[in-house]
Amino acid sequence: MPFVFDPPAPATLPVEGGTDLYPVRRIFCVGRNYAAHAAEMGQEVDRSAPFYFTKSPAALAPSGATLPYAPGTADWHHEMEFVAALGAPAFRTAPDRALATVWGYGAGLDMTRRDLQAAAKAKGRPWSLAKDHENSAVLGALRPAAEWTPGAQRIRLDVNGETRQDATLDTMVWSLAELIADLSHYYHLGAGDVIMTGTPAGVGPVRPGDRLEGHIDGLPPVAMQVGAPL
Ligand code: MN
Repeated sequence: MPFVFDPPAPATLPVEGGTDLYPVRRIFCVGRNYAAHAAEMGQEVDRSAPFYFTKSPAALAPSGATLPYAPGTADWHHEMEFVAALGAPAFRTAPDRALATVWGYGAGLDMTRRDLQAAAKAKGRPWSLAKDHENSAVLGALRPAAEWTPGAQRIRLDVNGETRQDATLDTMVWSLAELIADLSHYYHLGAGDVIMTGTPAGVGPVRPGDRLEGHIDGLPPVAMQVGAPL
């Protein structure tokens, strides 16, 4: 093929318990999907509809790595999130059929340049600089959907061994099935599409040297160590 340079390797996620890789096509993220987190951000949940932003697959970082403190920010925040990875098409799909399109589940960190997000909000500008940056989507291994079903599992994040975020998945404002159904009215969703479903309360800044460990009951964990800025 006449590529003018070597195309990058596909972005992938590991699958629990083996060497298989899940190729990532797109990353959709949900805003304000836990009422207590919306409140800590000084916002109210809009119960008329969910809202979204996206991250490029180039924002992916493997779980367990030391990642340099992000450039261009003095307020890099952790957001612990429940993640679903689709394996089948969904377009104008009803909620009661939505979970059948999920290939697997995992845990992830939506790393956020909070100062840039606040500035963007104040000026009515997009969130891209705040949300879609290198190493901003730290995702753990996937567990196949046949082996796990979302319910009221605990979701929690520890920083240096101290719990900072702690909630249960049934407190999401919009369930995963509702999110897939809603998104499927705007996109032809399908295999390779990953959804980060929003963060519970307790977000906060990280510092070089911090060790983050996120757990969702029954799923592979997500972890990162914050390195020095580049
Ligand atoms: Mn988030």
